[in-house]
Amino acid sequence: MNIRVKDLFYIYENNEEQVVALRGLDLNVELGECLAIRGPNGSGKSTLVKLLTGYQKPTAGEIYIDDQNISEIDPIQLRRQYVASINQNGSLIKELTVRENLALAYSLNSSLASRSTEITSQILEEHSLSHLATRYPDQLSAGERQYVSLLAAVATDPQVLVADEPTEELDHAGAKIIYSLLKSLCSKTIVILVTHDIRAEEYATRTVRIREGRISEEWSAGEAEKSVIDEFGWMRVREVTQDVPKRVKRAISENVTPILEANGLKLTYSPKEIFSDVNFSGRPGQLLALDSTLPTKTGKSSLLRILSGLVDADVGSVLVNGQAIGGLDREARAQLRKALVSYLPQRGNALERITLGEYLGSTVVDLGKSLNHRRSSPLGNFSGGERARIELLKIIAESRPILLLDEPISQMDERRTNEAIEALFGYLENGGLVIMSTRNEILLEAADHIIHLG
Ligand code: ADP
Ligand code: MG
Repeated sequence: MNIRVKDLFYIYENNEEQVVALRGLDLNVELGECLAIRGPNGSGKSTLVKLLTGYQKPTAGEIYIDDQNISEIDPIQLRRQYVASINQNGSLIKELTVRENLALAYSLNSSLASRSTEITSQILEEHSLSHLATRYPDQLSAGERQYVSLLAAVATDPQVLVADEPTEELDHAGAKIIYSLLKSLCSKTIVILVTHDIRAEEYATRTVRIREGRISEEWSAGEAEKSVIDEFGWMRVREVTQDVPKRVKRAISENVTPILEANGLKLTYSPKEIFSDVNFSGRPGQLLALDSTLPTKTGKSSLLRILSGLVDADVGSVLVNGQAIGGLDREARAQLRKALVSYLPQRGNALERITLGEYLGSTVVDLGKSLNHRRSSPLGNFSGGERARIELLKIIAESRPILLLDEPISQMDERRTNEAIEALFGYLENGGLVIMSTRNEILLEAADHIIHLG
């Protein structure tokens, strides 16, 4: 069994704009390989996924599973029987429990449908998940959700499983579990993992890198990278790598007045206490980090929302510029944010339908040559990593005194990550305060304090 991608092109065409996302991509994958596809933001990875899963039709080129051209298979049939997929949010139905989601998935497998209930119990047991059987997807950790999504995705015995950034939101331990499950699936299903997560190296037997819509390098586990020169003789220039950003830490005197203080914060999502007795102060020029390499659900995102004044802690107070935000009404809080605080939630703020130009407004941001000229494109037309970068650079350019950032760079490739970190270091140099959750080693290293929750 194999999947063959031949000279694939995809062009997005909207109104005035044409974006060539794939330009002559060739790729063969055999059963038994655990393939990882890497590549910078906007290189065409998700576009390839949409074509493999039949959500979009190639502008040119073909995809074959064994010898069948997938354009001849009805897209619904294709996704039911041939190509299963999951994305970074998993693929479970919110209104169904774990057991019901799996049973539904098995009921779609014609040879197992009559025994779907029994098989579901068996699978839950085999994977030590029985304790989660009656939970709804919202009641699972991100890692558990992805795990169950993967099991549901392969319930129909698909020939191919495509996972687009499945570990994006997971801590190290969670990612490891997903990679080992993917690895165990490789023997029966062609697994194609799309990611920019270097942790995927332990899973992959072969890795290919996409750049500008074509395969640019490939290598097998333990080998050095090899450039791929295709039949058109397109030699690729090596990717520009940036130096690892360095921050010169300055000791900031305790005598400097804090611009943000957290006093005795406690948060409970009943019946569970999330954190308590959280105390810290942030001064201009400081970087305070919440370490996301640690297990999720310790309340990092909740803490950032509390600091922004969008929600209140159960106990304790937050002072911004000496003023307790607990005592302010909504309007006053919004005013305070406008003057002093920028908050960037994990999934960003930007609306899909407004254009890049409208979103940036009068804020001056240099997004580089590939994006600067796309100001009339709606934000929904940019890749996840491109959007994350646009939002972060805008917020930094607005230069309010406090930045609250929830995993702002986790979607960016290595080069963009380094650029973003440079920009953050510049902001700190200019006396800004950054409080952020991150699993980036450079930032954790550069932090003045790590805030511990618990
Ligand atoms: P990746 O997943 O590798 O980050 P994508 O496949 O999402 O990249 O995007 C490839 C290119 O296509 C990018 O330049 C992106 O901005 C562009 N693109 C993605 N979706 C659309 C769309 N709906 N309309 C126009 N351009 C798009
Ligand atoms: Mg993508």
